[in-house]
Amino acid sequence: MASPEPETRRKQRVHTATVPRIDVTGQFNEYNASDIENRKIMRKREAVLVRWNTDESHFYQEEFGKFYRKIKLDRDLLNYKYDWTNKDCHSQCFRVIAQSLQSSRSGKLEDVDYFIEPLHKNQEHTIGFGKYDDTYTPPARRIRITRNITFDKNDVIPVYSDLPGETLENLEIPDNFVYEYSNVNFVDKSQESDLVKAMELAQQEENLIKCNCHSGDNVVPCYENKKCPCYKMNKMLRNFQFHIKDRSRCEFSSFKPIILAKHTDVMFDNIGFSCSEMCACAGKCTNNALFLANKNIFPLEIYRQNPHVGFNIRSSVPIPAGTPFKTFTGEIRESVNVSDEDLDYAFKVWQHDETRIPVDLKDMKFTGEYKRLLLELFQRDFFICPTTYGNVGRTAGHSCVPNVEILRVYQKSVSPAHINLIMVAREDIIPGTPLTIDYGAEFAERLKDVCQCGTFACSNSKDKELFSELKWVDLAPCVAKLHEVKFEKYRETVMDVINQEEIAHRAKRRRLQAH
Ligand SMILES: [Zn+2]
Ligand SMILES: [Zn+2]
Ligand SMILES: [Zn+2]
Ligand SMILES: [Zn+2]
Repeated sequence: MASPEPETRRKQRVHTATVPRIDVTGQFNEYNASDIENRKIMRKREAVLVRWNTDESHFYQEEFGKFYRKIKLDRDLLNYKYDWTNKDCHSQCFRVIAQSLQSSRSGKLEDVDYFIEPLHKNQEHTIGFGKYDDTYTPPARRIRITRNITFDKNDVIPVYSDLPGETLENLEIPDNFVYEYSNVNFVDKSQESDLVKAMELAQQEENLIKCNCHSGDNVVPCYENKKCPCYKMNKMLRNFQFHIKDRSRCEFSSFKPIILAKHTDVMFDNIGFSCSEMCACAGKCTNNALFLANKNIFPLEIYRQNPHVGFNIRSSVPIPAGTPFKTFTGEIRESVNVSDEDLDYAFKVWQHDETRIPVDLKDMKFTGEYKRLLLELFQRDFFICPTTYGNVGRTAGHSCVPNVEILRVYQKSVSPAHINLIMVAREDIIPGTPLTIDYGAEFAERLKDVCQCGTFACSNSKDKELFSELKWVDLAPCVAKLHEVKFEKYRETVMDVINQEEIAHRAKRRRLQAH
């Protein structure tokens, strides 16, 4: 595992977006000014033992109520339909998950079977699937390392440690866990001068992509405005997607779910362009796939249960399929500046031979200098490295069947410095399920015989023989079955109870009114 680099080399940070105002709670300044060792001491000092009700249904009921009230009261979210029981996209989601699973096992599977839908109904392999339910139930006694890792009142993420035999005295805080928390990427000026140059040039009128859209609405309808330059760019990037006639492409707007149509080259084909703080709408519009993610509305928790895996994330409310629920942030660096240790967490965001160059430069009104620089940058590889600086995204564990996809969204312009990563739910994620991503083929190969993801098709599972030979048409019903098992449990223990309470509450109100 990586250890953060010494703080001796002070980075000259240039943030890629305006750093939002943080409603500070806790020792934010002291923590950030401290070195690794002192941060660990601070975290240890903050740790307390807490009691946890292992019958989690009550916890989930409360969390759902809080979340629902929050989004209903938020005027920015009037256009947002929080719908996690919409089954329309399920078969497409399960197919893409199953196809990428097959392709990670047995080499690349082309998108040939794209047409075959609805998915095959072979239930043969799904018998007794309840045992693969991976929703996490913490122990009755937990160590809460911090009430809020972000220090921001509007983005509360508690951290728990649930390792067996652990006490407040022997509690270990790993070096790689005391990074600096931020939801905005940055570039180090002393190391990545070309990226900083690209950001500077992109400030010029010719190179900047922004719009003048405004309206009386709280949320400006840029996505519905065919003339909005940001929307136009967003739509143009859609052309990179593999496409079959009469099939809709995956869209990047503020509130529509981002549902992938295919499993190959997912990150490098599915690209969005969003409005930004430079636009008249200030990004508070319908053309902003970062909108929900930046509002940090989904209540997440970081926890650790297995010393060999490290920390994980789970949500306490359902995350509907296609929701960009969080960004993944860090430092944008060229591959030559990424160490082997960084690679454990770093995400490749630009690959010279695979990346669809976002624009045909000759069509753009960009200045000659900017075009020349872009051409040069397009030949190199770039990563987002969260080693010393980042957000909760870096805590997502690796899984053989991940439930989160990481996708790219540009803002302001199209250089590698203008990339943002969003974390998108690949299916409806049931509360308590670890949020996991695919760390890439190389990482998976290293983990082949040691992976602890615990999913039904894990390369290290005792049932691996059973699933390794299956084709996607038989894997998709397995993915669907597992979803159904977890969904039914949640519906029964959480949603039905909430609904009954609601009915009882209404009846009581009616009785009172009648008197
Ligand atoms: Zn606009
Ligand atoms: Zn806009
Ligand atoms: Zn705009
Ligand atoms: Zn695994």
